[in-house]
Amino acid sequence: MKAIKRFTVQPVLPPALGVLDELATNLRWSWHLPTRELFEQLSPEAWEAAAHDPVAVLGMLDSDRIAQLANDEGFLSRANALRDDLHAYLSEPRWYQSLGPDAPQSIAYFSPEFGISAALPQYSGGLGILAGDHLKSASDLGVPLIAAGLFYHSGYFAQAISSDGWQEESYPILDPDGLPLTVLRRPDGTAAQVALALPDHGVLYARIWQVAVGRVTLLLLDTDVPENADEYRSVTDRLYGGGGEHRLLQELLLGIGGVRAIAMYTRLTGAPAPEVFHTNEGHAGFLGLERISDLIGGGMTFAEALEVVRAGTVFTTHTPVAAGIDRFDSALITRYFSTDLLPGVDVDSVLALGAEDYEGGTEDTFNMAVMGLRLAQRANGVSRLHGQVSRKMFGQLWPGFDSAEVPITSVTNGVHAPTWTDRSVARLAEERTGDRDTTSCDWLSDAISDTDLWALRGELRGKLVDDARRRMKEAWEEQNPGAAAPVWYDHLLDPDVLTIGFARRVPTYKRLTLMLHDEDRLRSILLDPKRPVQIVVAGKSHPADDEGKRLIQQLVRFANEPDIRGRLVFLPNYDIGMAQVLYPGTDVWLNNPLRPLEACGTSGMKAAMNGSLNLSILDGWWAEFFDGENGWAIPSADAAGNSAERDELEAASLYDLIEHQVAPRFYDRNDEGIPTRWVESIRHTLASLSPALSADRMVREYVERLYIPAAGSAAQLTADSAAGARDLAAWKAKIVAAWPSVAVSHVESGGVDAVPEVGDELHVRAKIQLDGLSIDDVSVELLYGFAHSNDELVEPQRLELTPDDTAEGAGGAAGVVQFGGTVTLNRAGSFGYTVRVTPRHAGLASEAELGLVATAVGSDRA
Ligand SMILES: *Cc1c(COP(=O)(O)O)cnc(C)c1O
Repeated sequence: MKAIKRFTVQPVLPPALGVLDELATNLRWSWHLPTRELFEQLSPEAWEAAAHDPVAVLGMLDSDRIAQLANDEGFLSRANALRDDLHAYLSEPRWYQSLGPDAPQSIAYFSPEFGISAALPQYSGGLGILAGDHLKSASDLGVPLIAAGLFYHSGYFAQAISSDGWQEESYPILDPDGLPLTVLRRPDGTAAQVALALPDHGVLYARIWQVAVGRVTLLLLDTDVPENADEYRSVTDRLYGGGGEHRLLQELLLGIGGVRAIAMYTRLTGAPAPEVFHTNEGHAGFLGLERISDLIGGGMTFAEALEVVRAGTVFTTHTPVAAGIDRFDSALITRYFSTDLLPGVDVDSVLALGAEDYEGGTEDTFNMAVMGLRLAQRANGVSRLHGQVSRKMFGQLWPGFDSAEVPITSVTNGVHAPTWTDRSVARLAEERTGDRDTTSCDWLSDAISDTDLWALRGELRGKLVDDARRRMKEAWEEQNPGAAAPVWYDHLLDPDVLTIGFARRVPTYKRLTLMLHDEDRLRSILLDPKRPVQIVVAGKSHPADDEGKRLIQQLVRFANEPDIRGRLVFLPNYDIGMAQVLYPGTDVWLNNPLRPLEACGTSGMKAAMNGSLNLSILDGWWAEFFDGENGWAIPSADAAGNSAERDELEAASLYDLIEHQVAPRFYDRNDEGIPTRWVESIRHTLASLSPALSADRMVREYVERLYIPAAGSAAQLTADSAAGARDLAAWKAKIVAAWPSVAVSHVESGGVDAVPEVGDELHVRAKIQLDGLSIDDVSVELLYGFAHSNDELVEPQRLELTPDDTAEGAGGAAGVVQFGGTVTLNRAGSFGYTVRVTPRHAGLASEAELGLVATAVGSDRA
């Protein structure tokens, strides 16, 4: 029978235990081991039953236990000490507080999903977990971040697997009262709300939940309020549930509502207003439009407001897969922006920002990533390789520039070490060095022997095996109500067998079933009598993706074959809770995406932090960090003729690696049963990767390379009543108008003989047609270096050419001006050069920013 209404009854705790409420409502517990252990102590059974959720544990305590705890002096003093520790954590100066006055007072961070803890399931996968890790590290480092997102009443979805292997989705409704959330209220006690004007005089209202993530406040917008018309109450029903209009409503709320919620929050709490806005993927892109509207209300033109917004915005792109980018019909955008939604902003300006008006683009399509890039002066991909791929992929927005110059940099993702390091690892570090922090590599000193490390790995593998058995049994019993799971479920997997883990969302490019390419070969690997292997797999397919569900089914059916079932399991309902046991418990973490479609991949990082070795295609982070000693690289068959051939080659390499390298090393034991060579790799992995893969490193990079420069640019434009913004907007308009007539009209060179030699000096002079621009408006450069036989320059060097003495002085409008300069030929071989002109202004963050360039045509070979 189903209840028609459900709510959470709050426990009444005696005042002495109020401290527990406080500890439970700041999500710092999710990564603070001593606080987690305190809640576990309240009731180990409840802690397990509630899947490690302190709020739920408090709700499960009976009155006897509450009375007992309230009188337990030892317990109370531990709890109070933890509260004092939390207070200190929340207020003491940390890394960011040492940065000086250039560091912004506040940074806003927007994301459609946040994966902070299994207890707050507001994520679907890597993007959300990354956002959660970003907030946690920002908190640990003292970065004054304020985050905005949506509160989805059913999160993503819960996955079950039918006996035939088919994914079944369910959407359990979350009760906000049972979660660590508090409503943002006005001084009179009423709930603060944002309102968005919609077509046909509709209004979308949302209340604002506050989540305390250590020092960071996360605001989640929720449309399930009585003020909304029924159709709008369900706007925040699910993550990535609907398409088209439903998705658009969610994104309008996230971007526009998010900025309004932050403004409301800063007004109500006195917190400083953000100087920089960071958008995690394009879904929140409308935030820039809301800010433009706001600035127009303050007296700026659209063009001036655009400059201010661009200067202070950072855009992170996360996927080279087209399906991962939101695109809407222009007609839909027109309908939603022909309202009072954004006062002062007209529809055409909105459409122009998201238009695919470049070669290969689609007409009448509004592209959120494209808008994101146009609204942000600074942008980045999430690994070095993904940076390169993104520069190629979005290169059409900066026509005329080589992809290396496209202004998209990269900041490689990281993972939050205290969240993703198993407590046994942290405990070992603490025991031997007094410090739980495993990202400082000195914890692996001589104090930790091979025996210690191998025992640790065995313990982690054992925990995974236990957890997998429990999950499989529970899943079976759920599918077969009233019956007990078969006994062999107690013997699934083996705590002593080489364990490979593989878990991820199931889009095609991740190739969930590559391992099944040759089932006989896989079978013989799993069942090898001397060197057996077992594989633990998990992953969710998007509910609308039947292809993905078929892949899961294929895998589950194979796993159900009687000879296989003890060696290969598919664990249903992949989530943070499972991940925290799965990554540490696997000896080898497998990843076999189609290179280069995995932007970064973070699960392998989390595995490495616990001493698992990676076995992966050289894609994403692994292309950057594989060093021959920390795991294995599966060669990508990039040159294969088609995808079937590619799968075949890559699967064969995978089997070869497991058979000939991974398993032999794992089973090569010394007299004490320790695989010393393997343990060497573990030691090396932990020591070299833990610091580099930490989200602390990532957040520091964002601060130093993006947030601080963005705050500086924004401050320059807004100083003196926004004189800088007016100047930059006017200058850009002038440049754009004049550019069609700017040209390199003539290039000549001298100084080298008929047979050029190393050491010769090459003098280059170029006549530049400026057509009314001044010599200060442009940068004229010689690009030179090795040239291919097709004249393509390879990573050319650059020399700024200077105007001739006879040129008019700086500032004046000029007609044709001669520029010149000299380079020394410093290496033998093919040499080429060209001359180009680009716009120059102190307010630009890159030469390519305007996508304008005039390059010499014709040839003038030295
Ligand atoms: C880390 C994580 C992911 C992302 O892993 P990828 O390697 O990027 O696929 C997905 N889901 C959960 C639960 C995670 O913890």
